[in-house]
Amino acid sequence: MADITTDVLIIGTGPAGSATAALLSTLGVETMVVNRYRWLANTPRAHITNQRAMEVLRDLGPEVEAEAYLYGTEQDLMGENIFCTSLAGEELGRMRSWGKHPLSRAAHQLASPCFMNDLPQTFMEPILFKTACSRGTQARMSTEYLSHVQDADGVTTTCRDRLTGRDITIRSKYLVGADGGKSLVAEHAGLPFAGKMGVGGSMNILFKADLSQYVAHRPSVLYWVLQPGSNVGGIGMGLVRMVRPWNEWLIVWGYDINAGEPKVDAAFATKVARDLVGDPTLEIEIQSVSTWTVNNLYATEMSKGRVFCMGDATHRHPPSNGLGSNTSIQDGFNLAWKLALVLKGQAGPRLLDSYSVERAPIAKQIVTRANQSIEEFGPIFKALGLLDSIDPVKMQENMDARCDDTPAAEAQREAIRKAIAFKVYEFDAHGVDMNQRYRSEAVVTDGEPEPPYERDRELHYQPTTWPGAHLPHVWVYGRDGRRASTLDLAGKGRFAIFTGIGGEGWIEAARAVGKELGIDIAGCVIGPRQDWEDYAGDWANAREVGDSGIVLVRPDQFVAWRRAAIAADPAGELRRVLKTILDR
Ligand SMILES: Cc1cc2nc3c(=O)[nH]c(=O)nc-3n(C[C@H](O)[C@H](O)[C@H](O)COP(=O)(O)OP(=O)(O)OC[C@H]3O[C@@H](n4cnc5c(N)ncnc54)[C@H](O)[C@@H]3O)c2cc1C
Repeated sequence: MADITTDVLIIGTGPAGSATAALLSTLGVETMVVNRYRWLANTPRAHITNQRAMEVLRDLGPEVEAEAYLYGTEQDLMGENIFCTSLAGEELGRMRSWGKHPLSRAAHQLASPCFMNDLPQTFMEPILFKTACSRGTQARMSTEYLSHVQDADGVTTTCRDRLTGRDITIRSKYLVGADGGKSLVAEHAGLPFAGKMGVGGSMNILFKADLSQYVAHRPSVLYWVLQPGSNVGGIGMGLVRMVRPWNEWLIVWGYDINAGEPKVDAAFATKVARDLVGDPTLEIEIQSVSTWTVNNLYATEMSKGRVFCMGDATHRHPPSNGLGSNTSIQDGFNLAWKLALVLKGQAGPRLLDSYSVERAPIAKQIVTRANQSIEEFGPIFKALGLLDSIDPVKMQENMDARCDDTPAAEAQREAIRKAIAFKVYEFDAHGVDMNQRYRSEAVVTDGEPEPPYERDRELHYQPTTWPGAHLPHVWVYGRDGRRASTLDLAGKGRFAIFTGIGGEGWIEAARAVGKELGIDIAGCVIGPRQDWEDYAGDWANAREVGDSGIVLVRPDQFVAWRRAAIAADPAGELRRVLKTILDR
């Protein structure tokens, strides 16, 4: 007999674990989360928060989304993205990033009701964790996962209460391993991985200092510093990262992993900070220093039986592109509704197989992209002539050469501009953030092939209602004139159908089939004098089906199925599709 029983036990209160707990508790699932430490993240690791992650917070409720904006640094202050010899030194170029360029900002505004922002992990985790606990999650801090055993009916997990030193057993129907980049749950579950850990060495130096004079006129979260040694290890270049504008900072500086971990004491940390800021007398208040490794590893399967792993437990990569916590939160969004439906008896267990089938390709994609982004600093070093010598004097001469009035210098200037502009794949890759498309048994094809990407799929988001893609966001208008995003009309643990004039048969079918299967299906008719008006024609342009057609959307806002026009037997069609998805 176990000491504690719960439906879902989550190991870890990071972005993955806390988001999943918040989502499950919102859906009324009995959930317990444990963390081996007494509190949440104590350093602001993740910060770039993308629109897809914000959509998950919006789904949790307007108050959750609003709190993120309250503590996050707004998008306008994020994106000048400076390349320089030091903050006080010469600026070599900049790349407008994170939706700062007006064309990119327009793409952001068209793609989502949510805004990208900079929300350090030390603020994100408390928001998610508080949401989880206030909605019913049982949280046990200072509780360390040790092992688990699963059988046909559930999982028995052994944890150590670090306050008493006693071991406790927790029996759950499902176990979620959200225990980060050194995941024991993934290891004990025997998940298969591809790639390598420890491909580069890096250190974080967190400090307080008012640097307004160097940065406030060119606001950015990231200031990239090219100095001798800045292309060694780490994330590809020396980085001064804003944590709070403009008096709290995190320096990321690499080291040669083959030479072993350096001793990062206060004197060393202060010297690195002074060098990168370019002020030899700068007074800094060091908060913490730590070392970490650049990893290039992903799980090729993210679940085993009743054990599901997510977040850094399954995708381990450098912070380039800012994908870590964003992807972790979205892993949770994919899994939570499936667990809820299965636990409530509204879906069969095979629905859960789709979690790994859908999310493992994303894990591979983001790990590959983040590591590639490190390599893509190389052309900047090359164009500046920094790879031809390790002598700082010669390196400076090579950089200075770009200012000459010669054909060679003109070619060098062009090479520098192009190399910096190419970093768009790290700093403004809207498609990487937004273009996830799923193929699994939790998606039913309408027979149409996947629409090809018309532009670079990593840079540009391409909305489509092709089953497996994310529901396109457009604004529609209620009878009271208030606008709502199509995403607001879906989600919240329910399936949703979108149709128009002539598609009323789908609404009746949804009512009947929903009742029969015991599930909640939101019905949404968009058109003149209907519940929702499409005055600007945005939904008509986005939906890719006719007025009487249907777009069926899953609780995680991905399109489950669609049909171009009303069917002869709408209830029969909807029943067939939902029974397939729900394994009924
Ligand atoms: C410098 C830096 C910058 C970054 N920038 C970004 C960014 O801009 N955007 C972004 O999205 N990501 C970024 N990341 C990555 C991001 O921090 C991670 O991807 C994210 O924290 C992963 O969340 P997680 O919940 O999977 O794991 P974690 O945050 O690592 O959480 C793991 C949890 O499990 C707990 N735990 C571990 N082992 C046990 C155990 N045995 N028993 C009980 N509890 C356990 C831990 O205490 C913790 O609560 C950055 C990372 C770094 C280092």
